[in-house]
Amino acid sequence: MKTTFRALPVKTGVDGRVAFDIQDNLPMVREFYRGIREREAKSGKTYEVEVTVDVHYRQRSLKQLNLLWALVEIMALEEQGSYDEDTKYGYYEGLLDLYAPRIDARLTDRNVPKRASDMTTVELSKVIEGAFQQLAWWNGISFESAAQLRNYWIEWHQWRGKAKRDPLDGTYESLEDYRQRIAMCEACTRRLESGAGHMAHIVSRGAGGGDTDPSNFLLLCPECHLYTQHQHGWQRLLRDYPHLKHKVDRARESQSARPVSETRGPTGEAPEDTEVGMF
Ligand SMILES: [Zn+2]
Repeated sequence: MKTTFRALPVKTGVDGRVAFDIQDNLPMVREFYRGIREREAKSGKTYEVEVTVDVHYRQRSLKQLNLLWALVEIMALEEQGSYDEDTKYGYYEGLLDLYAPRIDARLTDRNVPKRASDMTTVELSKVIEGAFQQLAWWNGISFESAAQLRNYWIEWHQWRGKAKRDPLDGTYESLEDYRQRIAMCEACTRRLESGAGHMAHIVSRGAGGGDTDPSNFLLLCPECHLYTQHQHGWQRLLRDYPHLKHKVDRARESQSARPVSETRGPTGEAPEDTEVGMF
């Protein structure tokens, strides 16, 4: 008899060992063994049990799910003018169809999108990113929704910035893939028509910055790139859009450069990146 239980690693701090928490599945585990004991008692046979533990390395935070539903609400409100539950659920399903990994449903063997509540942090992050992408593509979004979207975008970047590693790092196939998936200026959240955005180097080529890894780039609208960042420098861009600080500092750190906040110079200092990276 085979079964799989989901577990989360829990730090123990004892001899570097890792303990696993199956607390959420405890009733299921009990039920499973109770069933086996019953069968054994009935049949007089002994059943061999094979248990697999499916480890989820990072606990999906509740905040991520909340954010996904907040974005779904904007979609429902913009298109239908209401927060009607069916409408919201329709958008939620649509997003899963587009961005969630697919799994085989247990009972029917049909290939279906994985539910958000079963996803890992990385998987759920990709769905949230997809929701932002969809909203960036929508025409004529109301001022109120655009303002809300900007707030969620900031919150989303702050959350990713606080994580040890950005959950989306390493999920981009190329710079073009990155550009397609973002679809809006990462600083001011202005929607970018296809190809209108600038891929701005964080650490320039001359200073050893990579040319292919999206973690060394920000997708910016021409104004944020050419006016704010080029003419007034990173300090000004990060003052106006502090949600980008984590990504910028991480990229600089990887090249042993000091965080922007520690660089000196008057406002309007010569920008370190003078290349206009257009791809
Ligand atoms: Zn911008």
